[in-house]
Amino acid sequence: MDHKESRLDRAKSQYALYKERPLDISMARGIPSEEQLKLSESLISDIKIDKWLSEDDLDIRNYGGLYGIEEARELFGTLLNTTAEETLIGGNSSLQLMFSVLSHHMFTKENPWSASKDMPVKFICPSPGYDRHWSMLEYLGIKMIPVELTGSGPNMEVVEKLVSQDPSIKGMFVVPKYNNPTGESVSNEVVDRLAGMHTAADDFLILWDNAYVVHHLTNEKVEIKDIFSASKAFGHPDRVIQFVSTSKMTLPGAGVSAMGASTHNINEMAKYFGKQLISFDKINQKRHVKFLKDESTIAAHMEKHRDILEPKFTWIDAILSAYFGGENNSFVEWTTPKGGYFVHLTTRANCARKIVELMSAIGITLTPANAAYPYGSNPLDNSIRLAPSFVSLDQLEIAMEALCVCIDLVTLENYEN
Ligand code: PLP
Repeated sequence: MDHKESRLDRAKSQYALYKERPLDISMARGIPSEEQLKLSESLISDIKIDKWLSEDDLDIRNYGGLYGIEEARELFGTLLNTTAEETLIGGNSSLQLMFSVLSHHMFTKENPWSASKDMPVKFICPSPGYDRHWSMLEYLGIKMIPVELTGSGPNMEVVEKLVSQDPSIKGMFVVPKYNNPTGESVSNEVVDRLAGMHTAADDFLILWDNAYVVHHLTNEKVEIKDIFSASKAFGHPDRVIQFVSTSKMTLPGAGVSAMGASTHNINEMAKYFGKQLISFDKINQKRHVKFLKDESTIAAHMEKHRDILEPKFTWIDAILSAYFGGENNSFVEWTTPKGGYFVHLTTRANCARKIVELMSAIGITLTPANAAYPYGSNPLDNSIRLAPSFVSLDQLEIAMEALCVCIDLVTLENYEN
């Protein structure tokens, strides 16, 4: 029996043991753990609201204030590089704001995309990216064009060529910092090129989803050039709409989201929301302002998240390095993100789906393989996302050991047999 066979046999017998004792572990979604949620419990239990008036004299218990209360618009403006007038506060989900922006542009604005002579409406999708962005576009009937990520944002040569030639390409999503799932951040050069590029569609939109704006995992806190002022300087003030939320700062089920854009775009969206509601939850906005206070309080709070999250990322890297570092490293490549919530694995071609399937059969749920590609379609079948935030370190260790066995098994069966 040669070395390869013995390694395959070993993987098979280890896998058989897992099959005898199925587990119940999920690393499918980027959900904060119980320990992380506890960091923000005092938001509900301790924050006392001593007066019901906001700084702009709204009774926060009552109707009104569709744009959000002044102090919340100011606080979230510090994350978005926008003034209070350029900031709108939403409910507990930035995804809802993004969907609303897309839906407004697609159907309800003056000259909506859906009535354009250039059909079908298309979007650039930097990939691997966030699966919920892709499902949103698919749901709205927007055709997705994947463009590869380079390690510092989308391949701009490809983006510039596509958007300058095709007026039916109406926009793109960008997760600028600690991308879900690759962890990469856009370079300043990419910011400038996105802000300044010529687009055949004169209403081209960049949805700048800065979900991980303060979610650092190392001391190298990545900062990105402000795209909003860059786009203004290039004469495209309405091109960029930015999004943030407190989902992974406080409580995803009871947080606050915010949108930063030109006053034209903000007023347009307020008109759109005004047909659905009279105001978002202003008491929660007030609570969040009292809890998160300012940039330095937010940074200190995010350090507590880092203390909980960082060991999980270190552990993933350590286990993968132990298995696949050195001579065997052609089996899988993995990211070591400086922030955010995910590790991305690039397996050998045609292995990812099978690996995720094997993991599922022993009770470990991962995000479906290749879900980070539009339509879940990745001809290389080599993309797996790991979301370690929710599991304990003990569970993570077990899941990672099992994952290494599954990677071994599938890669050896596909390539060495
Ligand atoms: N955007 C990105 C890139 C994400 O990774 C996530 C959650 O994983 C979200 C948005 C969800 O944001 P929210 O909870 O504000 O809707």
